[in-house]
Amino acid sequence: FGSEDEDVEPVDKGKKKSEGATACQSYTPAQLEAETAKEIREVCAILGLQNPIASILLRHFRWNKERLIDAYMESPEQVLTSSGEPSPVASPNSPTPNTPRPSKRARLTPEEVVFMCPICCDDIKEETGLFKERCGHTFCTSCWKDYVIGKVKEEGQCDFTCMQDGCKTVVEERTVKELVDEPVLKRYQFLILESLIKSRSSLRFCPFPGCEQVVCCHNATPSSILVQVPTVACSDAHTFCFGCGLDADHRPVICALAKLWLKDAKDDSGSSSWIKANTKICPNCQNATEKNGGCNRIHCRSCDFQWCWMCEKNWNVHGYNGTCNAYNEKSASETKDAQAMAAEKLEKWLFYYDRYNNHDLSAKLDKELYERTEQKIKEVQEASGLSWIQARFMQDAVDELTRCRITLKWSYAMG
Ligand SMILES: [Zn+2]
Ligand SMILES: [Zn+2]
Ligand SMILES: [Zn+2]
Ligand SMILES: [Zn+2]
Ligand SMILES: [Zn+2]
Ligand SMILES: [Zn+2]
Repeated sequence: FGSEDEDVEPVDKGKKKSEGATACQSYTPAQLEAETAKEIREVCAILGLQNPIASILLRHFRWNKERLIDAYMESPEQVLTSSGEPSPVASPNSPTPNTPRPSKRARLTPEEVVFMCPICCDDIKEETGLFKERCGHTFCTSCWKDYVIGKVKEEGQCDFTCMQDGCKTVVEERTVKELVDEPVLKRYQFLILESLIKSRSSLRFCPFPGCEQVVCCHNATPSSILVQVPTVACSDAHTFCFGCGLDADHRPVICALAKLWLKDAKDDSGSSSWIKANTKICPNCQNATEKNGGCNRIHCRSCDFQWCWMCEKNWNVHGYNGTCNAYNEKSASETKDAQAMAAEKLEKWLFYYDRYNNHDLSAKLDKELYERTEQKIKEVQEASGLSWIQARFMQDAVDELTRCRITLKWSYAMG
């Protein structure tokens, strides 16, 4: 996925991919994690670093291994300080040092049997009640635990610094492992994976709810998605668009238009066009006032103010016989044109949106049809003695219908 050595086998359960799909590979989170671990090991070997540091540095360099290695070769100190490391751990080109790291627990000398946690001010009498990050900053274990859980679970961060004010040391994976329980650790590891996926434009999570697959696709560049829709499928056969992440095959509409269409459908911009064509702001109270019928005399329902639709003057001064300041042939026809155009646009929008919705509904009904078909296949098989494979044609027919309907549905957005 982006690097030159792609030796992870894509998952292929032999599921049929939808026709015309863009070339892609599907990975499970475990496969990606294995790939990530391999990259970290490589960085460790080349730069003579220890694992948690290498992982932090890779994340700091947005998983760009080559850039990290180049920068580290040039100036290890600069790379380490910019990533918040307390001091250079090793020099480049030296083998991984085997020097034991200082114990993670702060050692208490006999004179210091009592340690006061600077955060909660509790007196800690036992060594096990303390925890020290590799920068040396020590706090009580329960404060550390609350802090790490808060960062991972509530804030969704995998890169956060030590609790000490001003300390830039990034808390390492070993600390997280030691302090939190399994679900929080899982979340932490997921966040690391997510940081990798966000940093690579060739990786994307399958958008289907509950699906954990990650799809790798190299054929969806910002310029290519302006002319084609990179429709891909994960190994569980969930078809989606790699360009915009929409959980549907939105061909023939390109991503930018599909987004617009959905946005239009969402904030109902059609009705806002209607409002533009038929309402004006009351000059007295600034509330939207609707024009009712053809008369220019507008009665504001909010403030009772009466005014002229055309020139927005007080109707008491204006009157039916008074000359309307705004009124002349040209401006009247211009206003009328603008309003007519907005109304026309709305009508067109509603026309297509109705049809789009209708197909959306039909597609939902197709799902039921699909399930009913499975039942029907069994019945036909029993009655006719056809094999399951032979009776499959019915399922294929429903598949085809669903695909056609999705394409037809999206073609309305082109209208
Ligand atoms: Zn504390
Ligand atoms: Zn610190
Ligand atoms: Zn999926
Ligand atoms: Zn798209
Ligand atoms: Zn008003
Ligand atoms: Zn007027």
